[in-house]
Amino acid sequence: RELPGDPEAGPRVRQVEGALWSAVEPTPVPNPELLAWSAEMAAQLGLDADDVASPRFARVFGGNELLPGMQPFAANYGGHQFGHWAGQLGDGRAITLGEAVNAAGERWELQLKGAGPTPYSRTADGRAVLRSSIREFLCSEAMHHLGIPTTRALSLVGTGEQVVRDMFYDGNARPEPGAIVCRMAPSFLRFGNFELPASRGNTALLKQLVDFCIRRDFPHLRGDGEVLVAAWFGEVCARTAVMIGHWMRVGFVHGVMNTDNMSILGLTIDYGPYGWIDNYDPDWTPNTTDRQNRRYRFGQQPAVAYWNLGRLAGALSPLFDGVEPLQAGLQRFIDTYTAVDRDNTARKLGLAECRDDDVELMQSLQDLLRDAEVDMTLFFRALAEVDPAAPSRDLFAEAFYDEDKHEAAVPTLDDWLGRYAVRLRDDSLDAAARRQRMDAANPRYVLRNYLTQQAIDRAGQGDADCVMELLDVMRRPYDEQPGREAFARKRPDWARHKAGCSMLSCSS
Ligand code: AMP
Ligand code: MG
Ligand code: MG
Repeated sequence: RELPGDPEAGPRVRQVEGALWSAVEPTPVPNPELLAWSAEMAAQLGLDADDVASPRFARVFGGNELLPGMQPFAANYGGHQFGHWAGQLGDGRAITLGEAVNAAGERWELQLKGAGPTPYSRTADGRAVLRSSIREFLCSEAMHHLGIPTTRALSLVGTGEQVVRDMFYDGNARPEPGAIVCRMAPSFLRFGNFELPASRGNTALLKQLVDFCIRRDFPHLRGDGEVLVAAWFGEVCARTAVMIGHWMRVGFVHGVMNTDNMSILGLTIDYGPYGWIDNYDPDWTPNTTDRQNRRYRFGQQPAVAYWNLGRLAGALSPLFDGVEPLQAGLQRFIDTYTAVDRDNTARKLGLAECRDDDVELMQSLQDLLRDAEVDMTLFFRALAEVDPAAPSRDLFAEAFYDEDKHEAAVPTLDDWLGRYAVRLRDDSLDAAARRQRMDAANPRYVLRNYLTQQAIDRAGQGDADCVMELLDVMRRPYDEQPGREAFARKRPDWARHKAGCSMLSCSS
């Protein structure tokens, strides 16, 4: 740790050498007000609705009061951003309040995002705006309910303060309401926490962090020395592959897969300019900062994860005599991802198992969905309705965005459905089992970009209840929810090129 500086002067922005974290306190806000909260995460901490409604809750999770035992800090990390080593980054606007061990013995780190400057804030203000805080709050909970490993969100607190951000679409800075999310995870360690001491040649500090991480977060791993570290790296690779497999299954695009945004636990972390695929497009990215290279586009995510793990392997190499153990770990990523991808194919198509031919069947479907601009979520959900004896293209009419492309795709779609029906007739699952398998893999509700934007617009006008309403829909993404069909509709035309719906900047 780094010793605290002069508390009166506030944190001084600097290079922090030889330390993994710095003691720093949240900066109080004028008027903390609870806007939304997650009942599940409150329950994890033994808190009920009354606790959460108390003014003290908003004070603590708005950064105005510390509870006994809280020892806030900001973590020091580096990272590769858009393919280049960026040096020290660190928690520039995130401050961990401490760890809570709940009644079940589970450990949760509580972290405020947007709680004011830290030694790592560089040129920025350490604050977050309401719109990006709503996006993080909603999506981390939605991802969890989809069954995807992720950091969680406890609360969304308005600060009563205006924050100035440059809105990317006109380049003008303007004040917006500020907010703070309290996010929760067993650990917020990132690849970048390991890369930074390695980049500075501080192998002792690197080793200390690796040992700490294994002991605290991977206690099930056995072995000593290199063997233990290799087993740990292999598990990080496998968990990362599983996480990416989920993203590809549901159409989630992270948007900024820099190595400082890669969790060592294989959790989806740092919800910035993320987005959801509407029409199936492997080249799509919501991140306007990445529109030229499209490094972090949907279809590229498995390859980028592998590249990022390569950077982590490089950072860990001083702990090994040879490269073989690290190569074996990277191979585990490839093997795990291949298996997960095949499993996705079987589950999304409703097959008992994925045969070699099915990989091609899925690929030709994805080509079709891309060429014909078909909504990914609607299409796969409707696929469960296909009658193997008489497959009908009419099931998918709603999923098309473009009438001309729809018409042009009819022969290809009929051909594909014919092949699919033949395959289904050769599969061991009965109709009910198939339906169940597909409905558990193909969500009915995802957090479409325009839905979040609508909630943001309403919250900006003072109605934050819509955030809780949208969260409630996302609690059961695989279930039909009568009366909530509006939340399952494809992206409306007005949202196609609208800021916040299809275009987001890193400064979000
Ligand atoms: P991100 O692109 O969100 O992963 O952020 C990259 C780096 O910029 C991290 O070190 C963040 O802590 C820092 N950062 C982003 N926004 C702010 C902000 N408003 N104030 C201070 N630091 C920030
Ligand atoms: Mg980040
Ligand atoms: Mg961020």
